[in-house]
This record gives sequence, structure tokens and C-alpha cells, in this order.
Amino acid sequence: MRWTKAALARLAAEVREKELQANPYQRICPYDLADLYGVAVYTLQDLAESGCPLEAIEFFTSVRPEAWSAALVPNGTGQFIVENNAHTPQRRRSNIAHEMAHLLLEHEFDRILFTNGKRGCANPASKEMEAQAAELSGELLLPGASARRAAAYGQSDDQVAEQFDVSTEFARWRMNVTGARRIADRAARKRSR
Ligand SMILES: [Zn+2]
Repeated sequence: MRWTKAALARLAAEVREKELQANPYQRICPYDLADLYGVAVYTLQDLAESGCPLEAIEFFTSVRPEAWSAALVPNGTGQFIVENNAHTPQRRRSNIAHEMAHLLLEHEFDRILFTNGKRGCANPASKEMEAQAAELSGELLLPGASARRAAAYGQSDDQVAEQFDVSTEFARWRMNVTGARRIADRAARKRSR
């Protein structure tokens, strides 16, 4: 299915408002979102402690731990997420949001979907799905409306990152890709004329 950026923004707004009771200017918790959808989130340690077969854990550890962020694992009719808890909490939030975005978009995979260090999965079924998941997770964690307001208020990337509990890199990406900085700059130039 084709999704425009506007449609992805609307979907994110709906999920934020109706399912997480958050207005566009509030941070959300992607773990709550997973919980709402009945998607369990495990770390490798959890898996070991819950009696997950050793071969499965070996599978994850054999993929270099520093090279993967999270994985969406098909499980019967559902899915669960395994996350790499070696990363910072901000990165972990973004990883969970990314995996949840695939789920919200009903992307179908016949295999485990690994997310690597960047904003995409290591073995994507399609580039388009990755672009959609990245955009949707961006809108979930830092909506374009919030980015534009923050830019209008002259907030720095660090301030925005702090407010939405994302990494500075993530905040910078959103402030640019949503056009927030460009719009604020143009408004400032108009005022100074
Ligand atoms: Zn992905």
C-alpha cells in the first residue's frame, strides 16, 4: 500500500491521540504503544531468563550485538519485539517506535526483521516499507506539528531532544525533514524585512 507523508502523519496523530491520549506536543512512550497492541518487548536477558531456547538466543547473539537495535519476531498470528538494551534509552525508544510502525502499517514479513544502527531494518523486504516505518516512527515520537512549533519558538535540537526524549540526532533529523527549521527561518527573514 502507498502512504503519503500526510497520511502517515494523520495515522500517527490518530494513534497518539486516541490510543495514547497524547496531544501533538507531548512525548509518548513507545513501550506503552507496544503494550496496547499486545506486543511483548524482551531483551536478550529476558529471553534467557524466560526459558527461551538457547539456539534462539544464540541466533541473536551471533548477529553482532552492536550491529542490531531491535527485531520484530513473528510468533504465530502475532509478533514480539526483542530489543538490544545495550543502546541508550533514547535510541531504544526510537527502535521500539520503528518496529511498532511496521506493525501499525501491517507490513507483512515472513522472517525476523532486524533493525540495525541506523533508521532502518538490516534485511528490509522493501525500501518503501522502511521509508514508511521511519516516517511513521518519526511522526509518533516527534510530530511535524511539534517540530514546527519548536522551530518557531527558536528551540535548539538539544532542547527538542530533551522534550521528546529522543537523541539529538533524531531531533535534528525531524527538525530538518519536516521543514520546521526552513519554515521558521523564512518567517524570521520576513519579520526582519
Ligand atoms: Zn524497519
